[in-house]
Amino acid sequence: MEALDADKINIFVPADHRAPAEWVLKWLFTEILHLEVILLAHAGEHIEIRLQGKVLSIACDFFRLNKPSWLQPGSLVVEPREDWMDVDRTLAADLTARSIPVLWGRQGFLQTVQGNGQLHLDVIGSIFFMLSRYEELVKASRDQNDRFPAAASLAVERGFLYRPIVDEYIEILWSAMVKVWPQLTRPPTAGAMVVTCDVDEPYERWISSPWLLAQGLAGALLRRRSVGCASRRLKNAWCSRRGRFQFDPKWNFAWYMSALESHGHRGIFYFIPTSGRTQFDCTYSLTERRMQALLKSLSDRGHQIGMHGSYTTYRNAALIERERRSLINACRSAGAAAAVSGNRQHYLRWDAGQTADHLEHAGFTYDSSGGYPDNPGFRYGTTRTFPMWSWIRHAPLKLRQHPLILMEGSVISYLKLGYSAEAFELMRTLKRAALKYGDFTMLWHNSHLSTPEDVGLFSDILAA
Ligand SMILES: [Zn+2]
Repeated sequence: MEALDADKINIFVPADHRAPAEWVLKWLFTEILHLEVILLAHAGEHIEIRLQGKVLSIACDFFRLNKPSWLQPGSLVVEPREDWMDVDRTLAADLTARSIPVLWGRQGFLQTVQGNGQLHLDVIGSIFFMLSRYEELVKASRDQNDRFPAAASLAVERGFLYRPIVDEYIEILWSAMVKVWPQLTRPPTAGAMVVTCDVDEPYERWISSPWLLAQGLAGALLRRRSVGCASRRLKNAWCSRRGRFQFDPKWNFAWYMSALESHGHRGIFYFIPTSGRTQFDCTYSLTERRMQALLKSLSDRGHQIGMHGSYTTYRNAALIERERRSLINACRSAGAAAAVSGNRQHYLRWDAGQTADHLEHAGFTYDSSGGYPDNPGFRYGTTRTFPMWSWIRHAPLKLRQHPLILMEGSVISYLKLGYSAEAFELMRTLKRAALKYGDFTMLWHNSHLSTPEDVGLFSDILAA
């Protein structure tokens, strides 16, 4: 039987939206604010936080407005579309900019003479919208790889993809709470940079067969018009077959590990366990002697090994399970740590309606696919890790998301910023915004460290 405890924070949630609202509230109060709360249902329309005879009431529009057409295609209700909240006018919240888009609810905070507060911004519903990726279930937009594109997101439409809007909404809620209860305290946030590498091509694929080598040489001569490149590829193929890998620009893991270690970091390296299932997968096998040695070396030096779920896994629970088992076996036979607790999807392919459930079922404790390939930034609106939402069970999962904030190719290739000062500036802005509230998870492929420009930009963002 639930009972009201006058000394504890009691939070009343509209009974109709209890499960999704409680998922957000539990994460927010337990993991971020470190405050003990009792969650209760009530018949009211607002979320009410009650403590010591005072009330902070928070608008709860997202759930209410979307309820009649919940999850129906095209059911996204966003109004007014261009409302921004000038937070500094009423609250003292630590944001990345003074004003912030209103997703649901409306702008403004009011305090009564009795000291109660009313926050008109729908903080909890908006956070649910971002963390659950609700829009990816109701919008049909997909790219040629069946991925929900950043361009179709509300974040791009309203111009907040480069802002951790969930973390900023938490700051707004916190500043409203401190207005009502000035004695409240919370621990400081502590984030870290997490460098990760998806091992798509550990070595030049030209060396795998005479047919591929012919393609590599033809590409060097006809497309690149470079005799030097062709002769280097030939030399690499010749030497690699004899166990000498120093001419392979992609086989740079010793350098990669040292670069991270010199900054006091250890990386996470995600491997595709099964080769060649589709043309989008890879041409290496973890049973090769050099790959076994690589797994062992990463593990011995304290770097982590995770799974890079192959191209078709995002909707295939059985394949995810099989791939995890084969990666564990490869680690064991190499004498490397075989926990394999984390995953990132190859091509970042993700179905918000099911992939997280499959990963949890296969035994993963976290996933780190949470970014858009075509644009960097905050797909989930947060830089913090959080337990994911299951749209199959309509309940929280144990699987946690470690959002991916920056993939090098998103800036260099998709946004076509190359290695310009603008590219570095965007990367640094994202790093600073992320570290303000939590972790900065970055993906830099080993196969994107082949040129001096790549190495330069990588080193600059590591040090930034
Ligand atoms: Zn990949």
